[in-house]
Amino acid sequence: MTELTTDILIIGGGPAGSTTALYLSELGLNIILIEKKIFPREVLCGEFLSKEVTDVLKELNIFNDFLSLNPNKLNSFRAIDESGIELKSDLNFDAYALKRSVFDLFLLNKARSKNVKIIQPAEVISTTRYNREFMSVIEEHNGNKLQIKSRLVIAAYGKQNILDKKLGRDFVNKKSNLNGVKFHLPTNLLEKRFDDEIRIYTDKELYCGMNQVSDTEMTVCFLENRKQSKIPSRERLIDLIKSNNHFKKVFSEDAIDFIKTTNIYGTGNIYFGKKEIVENGIIMVGDATRVISPLAGDGIGMAMESAKLLHSVFSKYNPDNLDELNSDYVTQYEKIFSKRLKTAKIIQSIILNRKTRNIGFSFANKYPALLPYLIKFTRSYKTA
Ligand SMILES: Cc1cc2nc3c(=O)[nH]c(=O)nc-3n(C[C@H](O)[C@H](O)[C@H](O)COP(=O)(O)OP(=O)(O)OC[C@H]3O[C@@H](n4cnc5c(N)ncnc54)[C@H](O)[C@@H]3O)c2cc1C
Repeated sequence: MTELTTDILIIGGGPAGSTTALYLSELGLNIILIEKKIFPREVLCGEFLSKEVTDVLKELNIFNDFLSLNPNKLNSFRAIDESGIELKSDLNFDAYALKRSVFDLFLLNKARSKNVKIIQPAEVISTTRYNREFMSVIEEHNGNKLQIKSRLVIAAYGKQNILDKKLGRDFVNKKSNLNGVKFHLPTNLLEKRFDDEIRIYTDKELYCGMNQVSDTEMTVCFLENRKQSKIPSRERLIDLIKSNNHFKKVFSEDAIDFIKTTNIYGTGNIYFGKKEIVENGIIMVGDATRVISPLAGDGIGMAMESAKLLHSVFSKYNPDNLDELNSDYVTQYEKIFSKRLKTAKIIQSIILNRKTRNIGFSFANKYPALLPYLIKFTRSYKTA
């Protein structure tokens, strides 16, 4: 088995992993990043990029390069419930939409350009701590195995992974019944385009977000509670389009045939509860740490901000001082993200329940000033 040695091993090349690599490369550390998929690849996501994302891109001096990818600028938000109540607000912050296949490749290439060694496609199948170092086993796509010795391991492998089970993380056996699904819809299958607006439609135990991600494509992404329903997610969405007059108005007649056969990207049983931020010395970033309800459109932002936080902690401590470093990261993480995570989770549970949703929509409709205020509580900065 080939053996490699490095300062830091990062597991996963999504926004959390690539941004961590970009930040930590500034500290002159040797970094190896392992990514199991070939890029570009699609991933479940509404593809809404919040101000938290653009702030990190600016700090890393890659914002102008990001703009050259032609992301779609979004200015407003509209939520429409099954009774037709519409809640509308300006976003009051810079936001964009871009396909994750494009965005994630962009970030990974930026990390590569900073001399981060990227091994891809390859999967970390185990990682074990031995006092002051970690030993990880990696399997390449051709079956070759590598062993990597590192001073630190940073897990950026997303919301659920086989490694969670191996690490004995206690949330793995919990059931949420919450499923997410995404696909891309050509804009010519819309009755009417809404280029600079992110929209959320709600019905039954489901909400569906839509925003334009390129000149010709719209992302349609929904989250549903499957406790009440056994029919597959795709059919559930089609039912909704047919039965909800407000949602139906968005799509042309050909759209349903398209949705029946297009590629969809989904994940089941998404867990939005608490997880350990450091597990057996392994530092978690992004969704591996905690998952924010997609309604807040802030998961990528939080993934990138957790990388930024890690950079600030690393600037204070020697990486060999693992216990102090970990404890500071955990404290700061709770301080920065807890309120956002809680607020987004509460809003999501209100929206997924018909009764509380009706009350919520009627109330917000009566007091429109409430909406920007609620948006503010799901973010890291003041929007209104
Ligand atoms: C329904 C839904 C809609 C969402 N919409 C939005 C949105 O509009 N805007 C937003 O900001 N956020 C959104 N999110 C959240 C967002 O998708 C995540 O927060 C974000 O992808 C987290 O990034 P990450 O890098 O932590 O994980 P990921 O993006 O999941 O990346 C993890 C990477 O690790 C790799 N990997 C996994 N295991 C291994 C292994 N063992 N070895 C090597 N590589 C491995 C994977 O291949 C993957 O590339 C949404 C989430 C859901 C569920």
